Amino acid sequence: MQFGKTKARFLMEAETGVKFADVAGVEEAKQDLQEVVTFLKTPERFTSVGARIPKGVLLVGPPGTGKTLLAKAIAGEAGVPFFSLSGSEFVEMFVGVGASRVRDLFKRAKENSPCLIFIDEIDAVGRQRGAGIGGGNDEREQTLNQLLTEMDGFEGNSGIIIIAATNRPDVLDSALMRPGRFDRQVSVDAPDIKGRLSILDVHCRNKKLAPEVSLESIARRTPGFTGADLANLLNEAAILTARRRKEAITLSEIDDAVDRVIAGMEGKPLTDGRSKRLIAYHEVGHALVGTLVAEHDPVQKVTLIPRGQAQGLTWFAPDEEQMLVSRAQIKARIMGTLGGRAAEEAVFGHAEVTTGAGGDIQQVASLARQMVTRFGMSDLGPVSLEAGNQEVFLGRDLMTRSDLSDAVAAKIDLAVREIVFKCYHETKTLVDQHRECMDRLVDLLIEKETLDGDEFRAIVSEFTVIPAKDRFTPILQSSSSSQLPVQ
Ligand code: ADP
Ligand code: MG
Ligand code: ZN
Repeated sequence: MQFGKTKARFLMEAETGVKFADVAGVEEAKQDLQEVVTFLKTPERFTSVGARIPKGVLLVGPPGTGKTLLAKAIAGEAGVPFFSLSGSEFVEMFVGVGASRVRDLFKRAKENSPCLIFIDEIDAVGRQRGAGIGGGNDEREQTLNQLLTEMDGFEGNSGIIIIAATNRPDVLDSALMRPGRFDRQVSVDAPDIKGRLSILDVHCRNKKLAPEVSLESIARRTPGFTGADLANLLNEAAILTARRRKEAITLSEIDDAVDRVIAGMEGKPLTDGRSKRLIAYHEVGHALVGTLVAEHDPVQKVTLIPRGQAQGLTWFAPDEEQMLVSRAQIKARIMGTLGGRAAEEAVFGHAEVTTGAGGDIQQVASLARQMVTRFGMSDLGPVSLEAGNQEVFLGRDLMTRSDLSDAVAAKIDLAVREIVFKCYHETKTLVDQHRECMDRLVDLLIEKETLDGDEFRAIVSEFTVIPAKDRFTPILQSSSSSQLPVQ
């Protein structure tokens, strides 16, 4: 380690080569940012009529939605150099290094104006100061102070525009948002179905797709996917295509790539034995309950091929872009999630249930708690009992959380318990009533390793009448990610 020698470690690209056409599915953000391009290209137009050009724009949105790409596209469209540095790099540095790096960056930028400075993950340095929990981070504060000083130090028409990105605008120091600093915010959200389609369009420009592959159906299958996920998906599909020595990407590569992006790499299936049977019953339990409860999303497939951490998975087809979720649907989801454990218990007995349901149990607890504390769906009535933001952040939120009295907290626990116990009872009854059907499904699943939704339902309907799925028609767009399979 060398002390005192700070090498400027920011990045400069003379030309990013990125254009607005390369960023898709975020039309509103692009419109807002179009003006920034004009500021950089023809500042006179604004200054001649006395308008103050904004210095800073804050891009707000989840990871992978294209914030970095947008910043590069602004520089690319305006034809100015792109300077960038990331907030997270400062946090572990020696005191003083971050501040001097910021100073260097602005010095270089001024020499190269007009230009664009991009600060990624600004929340890493720009957190609310002085909250006093976990000890003040001097380095962070000094870096932040230096940044504020630099921003105040140059005139609005110096030809430098600073774009910062974060997914936590709520934790940012309010000093950053004052006029003359980051006084504009542009949100960059996960794309809706139309957005996903246009992102897929952008990313398959340089790829060969078989004619039967419909980008629209890929877009429909990927709610919750960000631009980065979609880029990754098409790339995985292309890699699989090359590995299989095919000429063009077909549906089978797309399918495999979707699974891989969502759930991780495939592993080797277990050899037949007691634990494979147990996992089979667990998965069939999820899928059967999901099929028999009307409000549950329909089964897409059940598989015993391990993926990522999971030994088996059940996939459900989510309702496209659903914004509102009813009480019956949440209850259905709780029951479906408990279906795995209920099946284990029904077949192998109370003493033999396994840790395999750990993730399910956690999810059930979280769903039931939200019914009580956020959505007013319990006997405690339509009262919000918790701040919407669940994370504890540097003192600020800690206060609001302890507002709940012990008595109310105990009532919440009781209400959560009641929901879960009642759902488990119903689930277990359902599983017990369909034991024969379940045995048949398990035998078939062990034989074939994967059953798709139609095969699964065909068997179930030999034993019982499947209720019609009661689904909402899409009202508003959203980015629900109920696409995640159940282990
Ligand atoms: P963020 O900065 O918001 O985390 P990035 O801009 O780094 O996201 O996105 C990573 C990659 O994902 C991009 O380089 C691009 O290939 C792809 N991508 C993300 N969002 C989009 C989008 N809206 N349009 C096209 N490609 C995108
Ligand atoms: Mg980024
Ligand atoms: Zn499970």
